[in-house]
Amino acid sequence: MADPGILLARLLAGRPHGFTTREGGVSRGPWKSLNLSSTVGDDDDRVRENWERLRAATGLSFARVRQVHGCRVFEAAAGTDPVEEADAVSTAVPGVAACVSVADCVPVLLADPRSGAVAAVHAGWRGTIGGAAAAGVRTLVERHGARPGDLLAAIGPGIGPCCFEVSRELAERFRDEVGPTTATPRDHGARVDLWRANELLLRAAGLPRRHIETLSRCTSCEERTFFSHRRDSGRTGRHVAFISAVS
Ligand SMILES: [Zn+2]
Repeated sequence: MADPGILLARLLAGRPHGFTTREGGVSRGPWKSLNLSSTVGDDDDRVRENWERLRAATGLSFARVRQVHGCRVFEAAAGTDPVEEADAVSTAVPGVAACVSVADCVPVLLADPRSGAVAAVHAGWRGTIGGAAAAGVRTLVERHGARPGDLLAAIGPGIGPCCFEVSRELAERFRDEVGPTTATPRDHGARVDLWRANELLLRAAGLPRRHIETLSRCTSCEERTFFSHRRDSGRTGRHVAFISAVS
């Protein structure tokens, strides 16, 4: 049995976390192979087997949410199916992994080295500009007593500035609301850099630059490694990004 392909962040070394790839699952066709969503048309038994593999490889309980491109943070006391509507999960229970589902949207993992509390954030363009990553930071501060300057963050695989073409209007919003280095507004081929935008928003929330790692892996460019909602015109699987609390 193949192990699930999981990418790690250097900054989070020693903490149970990861970003899954397409590799190591049993799904076929557009969901090949480690699809972790049961709402994208894949066979339920295969999705269950993929989750079993991830659980076996990590030994974690996954706390998941029903994502709606918002900024609500769900506080998880145990592993749970995606029922609660939210776009981020926080927990301080050891062995419980805050988990979000992505395929182009940017996952952001946060860890507080002092309390062991963690958060996982789903940040597409709406969540990014709406401040989802900062909402994750705020939850760790308010609920778990974290200091923003202590937090570690990893910005995982998502659609990169190479491929994320948007309308001129949206690029202008990012330029004006997040910063000039996050967008190139043009009539044709305007781009937004969601990685950079989330980095700037985390720094504005109080994280030092050296506490933020961007993996810089584009889901749209790397077809063999990642699902991409945009590249695959919506017919594709989902990855997850997760990080477990520690005592
Ligand atoms: Zn790309």
